[in-house]
Amino acid sequence: MDIEDVVRQAEEAGVELIEFLFVDHAGTIRGKLTHVDHLRSRMTGGIGLTPAMMAMNMLDQLQPIPEMGPVGEVRLIPDPDSFRVLPYSPGVGSMMCDLISLSHEPWEACPRSFLKSVVRQAEQMGIGVMSTYEDEFTLAKLDENGQYVPIDEALCFSSIAMDVGNPVILDIMRALKAQGIQPEQYYPELGHGQHELSISPTDLLTAADNQVRYRETVRAVAKQHGMIASFAPKPFANEAGNGAHIHFSLWDKEGKQNLFWDPADRYKLSKTGYQFAAGILRHLPGLVALTCASVNSYRRLNPRSWSSAYTAFGPDNREAAVRIASTFWGNEEKSMNMELKSSDSSANPYLALGAVVAAGLEGIRNDWHPGGTLEVDPASLTEQERAAMGVVRLPSTLAEAVDNLEADHFFDQLLGDLRIRSYKAVKRSEHAAFAEADTEFELKHHFYKF
Ligand code: GLU
Ligand code: MG
Repeated sequence: MDIEDVVRQAEEAGVELIEFLFVDHAGTIRGKLTHVDHLRSRMTGGIGLTPAMMAMNMLDQLQPIPEMGPVGEVRLIPDPDSFRVLPYSPGVGSMMCDLISLSHEPWEACPRSFLKSVVRQAEQMGIGVMSTYEDEFTLAKLDENGQYVPIDEALCFSSIAMDVGNPVILDIMRALKAQGIQPEQYYPELGHGQHELSISPTDLLTAADNQVRYRETVRAVAKQHGMIASFAPKPFANEAGNGAHIHFSLWDKEGKQNLFWDPADRYKLSKTGYQFAAGILRHLPGLVALTCASVNSYRRLNPRSWSSAYTAFGPDNREAAVRIASTFWGNEEKSMNMELKSSDSSANPYLALGAVVAAGLEGIRNDWHPGGTLEVDPASLTEQERAAMGVVRLPSTLAEAVDNLEADHFFDQLLGDLRIRSYKAVKRSEHAAFAEADTEFELKHHFYKF
């Protein structure tokens, strides 16, 4: 699509207002909007934005990054292909934006341009990445005391929860489909009010864009049903956490051959697959600062929670950080994929997907091997047994994750100076702000903002 196609589509659909969206370092979806009469010129010239937005934490506290202060300007430049008419908001459309500097180059802290650079890295190796987020979310209502109360107290996969969930989930599915996102399965999950709706994999950039659309859609449709949807990693202290597992597979240039597929292997996983997993696992203690990106993420990432608490690797092991998913009958090669469980929806999806794939590609380049596969819960092993297998506990706080990110020099080069400096500042400030407050404050803020 080009600019004229977008303008024509917007006018034909009666769209009057268009959101220019981006995701900041706090994982918040933000943007500015243009009236349709200015769409053509705004798509060319962009909408001006202060660079300070990438130094803002999830409490809107600006961090002292010299390049991200009151002086300066970047432009929100939308990707025409990302234009969608919003089915849940009459008269409104949205587009995903790159942050472009005044020299017309992608700004050093632009998350979407970062992901594009990783897509190019993969392409140079003859690889196309297919991916999707598999999100869990909580549906709740606000009671008269201002407390979030889950819409059901039902059991995992329970039909009682379906009765409450089906109407809103159906509308969410329809709204996703209208935006070109293919829903797959739905089921009520373990936590009260927790539901899971999976969508089909796409190319990497679309997978990140879709995660933004998904979060927007679920929240908006839930609101139409008088509910509040939350993607907070741990919405309630004593209920199951909301994961946003990342599924990925690698394909040849033509998109015909699944590079993870090897029917001769015990788990049908190719050498490339093992190498890719090894890259992710080696960098995971720092990588989680990007994939489990909030203070609240570390309430979820605990042993025996099926969220992954260790750098373990295993076939259909739901306590392993990287799980080899067994294939589906009649669709073996196509369905061969792996899943990263140490991931949630408080992440900036452009940074998270880009960093996960870049880490995996490094594993391929260096011919790394992930060590043994684990067919038991890593929490059931002794410290010594885990150490012998190279299985380490993932960080237990956001601050620890950021320290690991800093200590792993792979990320310096990958992310670049301005991005990593501002990202670390934002995350450390979030850790500090929530460390001073009580649990209720943390839960409330994450519930509402994600
Ligand atoms: N809710 C779990 C998590 O936090 C995942 C449960 C599952 O789907 O296996 O990741
Ligand atoms: Mg689940």
